[in-house]
Amino acid sequence: MEKEQTNRLSDAVTTLTRSKPMVNYRIMPGGITRIIDLHSSMYLVPIDKTNEFVLFDSGIDRQAKNLRQYLGHLGLGMRAIKEVYLTHAHSDHVGGVNEINSDSNAEIYVSEAEMSVLSGRKNSQGFVPALADKISNRHNAALPDVRPNFVGDYDLIKVSGDLAVRSFVMPGHTDGSLAYLVSNRADGSNSLIVGDSMDYDRTGQLKNAFKPVSHNTKQSLNSINRLVAIIDQDLGVRIDNVIPSHSGEGRWGSVRLFSFNS
Ligand SMILES: [Zn+2]
Repeated sequence: MEKEQTNRLSDAVTTLTRSKPMVNYRIMPGGITRIIDLHSSMYLVPIDKTNEFVLFDSGIDRQAKNLRQYLGHLGLGMRAIKEVYLTHAHSDHVGGVNEINSDSNAEIYVSEAEMSVLSGRKNSQGFVPALADKISNRHNAALPDVRPNFVGDYDLIKVSGDLAVRSFVMPGHTDGSLAYLVSNRADGSNSLIVGDSMDYDRTGQLKNAFKPVSHNTKQSLNSINRLVAIIDQDLGVRIDNVIPSHSGEGRWGSVRLFSFNS
């Protein structure tokens, strides 16, 4: 899919939803690059100054065409992907994972609680995702080849000298949803990739997990409050960017304020 088409589709989806618009190929602190895949996003993060990357989520398209195209612009192929971190197992986040896995040999990381969906034993959680799985039977058929590594709460994965990833459990959108803190010593940046555990509306206001597509929105509120306490009190790191999957990004202060008011 051409970049312009991708942007148009994303604009159309944004018009129909509540969300702050996303920008394709936006490069953020730490070199994190958003690649839009229809209404969803995946994020490429460079490993040091090499032509290697870690990827967060894998889009909706099973052939991962948009990712392949972006890597092609850089003169690279799928082998440039070394690790893939999944926020949860909904089909618009794991669509390309089999293709990426077989073409790149990348290590895949996910919460163990998502495995029943990822391996096809159960339909997705949340009213709309479960219905979509039931009607199409597409999602479950796509994923049996993946052999992931499990990550849990507060796990620290040192990707390289400069790059580290820490996972946090965020039950609510799904039971096994994860947020990832991406810390890059090279530019001192810390970014939080939150999947569908939160997003920003058109006015820039933070929202917790969106009810029609989520398992338990009250639990998602609790997860956000807990995350604020961990980041501010335990870790004490400055977060540069909060990056959802279906809306534009925002500031850590907005998450803090949301937690304070809820
Ligand atoms: Zn989701």
